Amino acid sequence: MSEFLELEALDGIRMPWNVIPGTKEDAVSCVVPVSAIYTPLKSIPDMPVVPYAPLRCRMCRSILNPFSRVDYSAKIWLCTFCFQRNQFPQHYSSISENNLPPELFPQYTTIEYISTAETGPVMPPVFIFVVDTCIIEEEIGYLKSALAQATELLPDNSLVGFITFGTYVQVHELGFGLLPKSYVFKGTKEVSKEQILEQMCFFAGKQKPTTGVIAGTRDGLSSESISRFLVPASECEFVLNSVIEELQKDPWHIPADQRASRCTGAALSVAASLLGVCVPGSGARIMAFVGGPSTEGPGSIVSKSLTEPIRSHKDLDKDSAPLFDKAVKFYDQIAKQLVHQGHVLDLFACAVDQVGVAEMKVAIEKTGGIVVLAESFGHSVFKDSLLRIFQSADNGLGLSFK
Ligand SMILES: [Zn+2]
Repeated sequence: MSEFLELEALDGIRMPWNVIPGTKEDAVSCVVPVSAIYTPLKSIPDMPVVPYAPLRCRMCRSILNPFSRVDYSAKIWLCTFCFQRNQFPQHYSSISENNLPPELFPQYTTIEYISTAETGPVMPPVFIFVVDTCIIEEEIGYLKSALAQATELLPDNSLVGFITFGTYVQVHELGFGLLPKSYVFKGTKEVSKEQILEQMCFFAGKQKPTTGVIAGTRDGLSSESISRFLVPASECEFVLNSVIEELQKDPWHIPADQRASRCTGAALSVAASLLGVCVPGSGARIMAFVGGPSTEGPGSIVSKSLTEPIRSHKDLDKDSAPLFDKAVKFYDQIAKQLVHQGHVLDLFACAVDQVGVAEMKVAIEKTGGIVVLAESFGHSVFKDSLLRIFQSADNGLGLSFK
């Protein structure tokens, strides 16, 4: 038993069975199915790294490993998964029992390969900041300094986008450095990928490309159009800093008996669709900074009138929170879209008031995002958590942006 625990600690893999069933019948009669829990990005001290690509089975594409059976004289290895016999390539010709390549060392059950040829160009990580401006001046000040600090830690090769929201959604064009420029979307409606694409092509002076674009490819949308909204962190420092520096409270007047008009849902929908159009399938995170309840458009949790209280646990129990189900449904859609695109939603909810995490959480949970709750953007829980996202494994959260 202890042997298996050691292996678990070493490789970060746990399986319900220690033996794989030998026949299909055995497999079917297993009450608990054969499965594995794997820890991606597990930090393994002294991880062996080899400077070449893995050797793959020509049938099932699984790779040569310490459990593969090898015929040294015939220079053949037997795939552990499909039992295909594979010939070693020429550069393995000196292989023998006393001259093993590292991937066959019995203790090298987890190793890393550095391979450039097979994987092709690596997509940079993408961060899109979605920032609430319906907050008091003092909070804006705190948020500005936290964002400014965070942007300094962004990996140089990463792409950055910046969206602000209040009554309207504003997508800032970071790729245009001469003067601040942004595109405004209504806060009352969600925005589809098609609409974003149409807008972006319109502004680029191009016809909307015909079908086949949305399916997940970037054909038809030039990298030029993308680079207006998602800019390498190393190139947009000045513009990004000035956008952050000039962040202002949402300028629209709020009557004394009303809540601020905050279109959190529409802003997240714009962010999700922008990423869906520009970088589907890449490692992108939407980082939402929210300072109060959504009152406008899709995903609203309460009306603007202050006479109506925000839903409580009791209301949810009694099913008397009229906007709850609708909002959850909206965020469920956002979750599906983000999962399909392979993108993550993180939420930094900093307010004394409620912000509607109960409605939004489905989109964060399903995309593997992070929620940080604090009472103010000046609170150390928020500031430290934000920095830890970008810090390396020892101090940070162990996220990987490679
Ligand atoms: Zn195979």
